[in-house]
Amino acid sequence: MGEYCFDAGLYVYSGSARRHPHSRLQRHLRREKRLRWHIDYVLTNPGVEIVDVEVRGVPECQLNRLTIGTLPVRGFGASDCRSRCGSHLKYLGPTPWSGRDYIG
Ligand SMILES: [Zn+2]
Repeated sequence: MGEYCFDAGLYVYSGSARRHPHSRLQRHLRREKRLRWHIDYVLTNPGVEIVDVEVRGVPECQLNRLTIGTLPVRGFGASDCRSRCGSHLKYLGPTPWSGRDYIG
């Protein structure tokens, strides 16, 4: 995707982990890993902090559609998306988020 300079603020990423979801989440939480997915390049940046992880029992594209926010990078995390999400990373804004109301 090339380089991208993200605005400071809060982002939400919708991903899937149909097989071995616990292992997948543990992998995302590690800083040291082989960079494979778009989100790996973001999460290994020292300026990025994971503030919340939620597991929902719905497909990633459906969850992504329920999530508010704007699309800062077209195609991010959506290489295999068939639902025309545009991106599975959404920008919620520059201020700290104080609730769990980013998912409709
Ligand atoms: Zn999608």
